[in-house]
Amino acid sequence: MPDITSLIVNPPHERNIFTNRTLNMQSIQLLGYDMDYTLIYYDVKRLEKMAYEHVKGKLLELGWPIEHLNYDPEMMIRGLVIDRKLGNIVKPNRFGYIKRAYHGTLPMDYKGMRQAYSRTLVDIRQSRWVLLNTLFDLSVGCLYAQLVDHLDRLKLPEVLGYADLQEKISRRLDLAYAKGLLKDEILKDPDTYIVKDAETPLALLDQKYAGKALVLITDSDWGYVREIMSYTFDRHLPDAMNWRELFDMIIVSAGKPNFFLQKQPAFEVVDEEGLLKPVFESLQRGRIYVGGHAGMVEDAFGMDGSEIMYVGDHIESDVHASKSILRWRTALVLPELEEELACLDQFRSEQSDLFKIMKEKVTLENQMIRIKIYAQRATFGYGPQSDMPISALYEKMDELAEKMSALDKRIKPLAIKAWKIFNPHWGLISRSGWDKSYLSRLLEGHADIYMSRVSNFLYRTPFAFLRSSRSSLPHDDELIEGPRRWETED
Ligand SMILES: [Mg+2]
Repeated sequence: MPDITSLIVNPPHERNIFTNRTLNMQSIQLLGYDMDYTLIYYDVKRLEKMAYEHVKGKLLELGWPIEHLNYDPEMMIRGLVIDRKLGNIVKPNRFGYIKRAYHGTLPMDYKGMRQAYSRTLVDIRQSRWVLLNTLFDLSVGCLYAQLVDHLDRLKLPEVLGYADLQEKISRRLDLAYAKGLLKDEILKDPDTYIVKDAETPLALLDQKYAGKALVLITDSDWGYVREIMSYTFDRHLPDAMNWRELFDMIIVSAGKPNFFLQKQPAFEVVDEEGLLKPVFESLQRGRIYVGGHAGMVEDAFGMDGSEIMYVGDHIESDVHASKSILRWRTALVLPELEEELACLDQFRSEQSDLFKIMKEKVTLENQMIRIKIYAQRATFGYGPQSDMPISALYEKMDELAEKMSALDKRIKPLAIKAWKIFNPHWGLISRSGWDKSYLSRLLEGHADIYMSRVSNFLYRTPFAFLRSSRSSLPHDDELIEGPRRWETED
């Protein structure tokens, strides 16, 4: 008889679910799902190029001299922050210190960064900063950086400054989405823009038949949701089942983050044409609504935040907002994680070389500082003295300095390579040098779990007990033995 547990395979590392706060999936009774880039995954490069070209076209109509500009998919990554005051794009670490910055499309050197930011910490609650929250923001970031170059060359006379430039670009992109212009393009040719995926419908079926209520909560409008969900899901569901039957309730044009933060009126979609009727009482299972608010979902299902988990890809609107007031459990979808982990894996042996050389350097540094203090004591005649004469101490220091400089020559190329893992301009999304990135800090603060795709739930099933790893502290080294992860992977 085959081992039935082998039917559910262990996930490859990049398809795992990563846990910030321990979560028992069996205690979750309702899963709310965002749609765009959560249940439906777009081809980022194609979609962002289309969005970029659209906004560029609108700005060309205003007479801006930008015909020659092109979308560069490598120029931006999620988690970068636009500095509207200085026209820079910055990558802060977890404390908000800026570790890397570009002015327009040009990298800033260390001195420039110090002058601009030595007394400044990034805090995205201030209007000066705009976080690139989702993959939808990459085109805006790219165009902004390119247009800062133009603004500096005085080629955009009607723009009042770096903040005004950001508003002009974002407003045009928001308008294009609001009018449905970009979504019409996707619907005309969904094969080009949507990544085919049979696994997500299966993961949701597992959850549905495990007794969980599923609720779609999306900012997209009903016309688009109906078409795109049917296109993406129906072909992968059992015969005679359509995507609407997967969900116990569908909420469109939700208006997040306010959906989670304040009371908003709800309307019921009463026919296929999208005719609306105001809702005066509670929401009902099996219906489709426009707007409303998260409290109405809790009331309709008789559940509180500890039994509900919301899954989305927008750090502020989806996971921060849903956690901040109602304390829903939260999951963030971060598709880039798969490529980032693959890049780290490729760099693994060089990373280990880098660690080894760094360790050698630390040993030499420790020898150096001890000899230096003996040389100082010998010079000023105080404290315990070394057996070596002072001239020998200085000779030893020269010898160590030479060895360290030789090690630096080996470290430099590896460090430069490490600095460029995942993205040649910005490096990793999750780290800023040795430290966590600002994005990682937000993720840690607001998302109970995170993963590259919703379908990673397949591997862990709807019954998993997701335990957080033991978090590390600087004083842990050499004190704590054994695995830092409590759970085994199988
Ligand atoms: Mg989304």
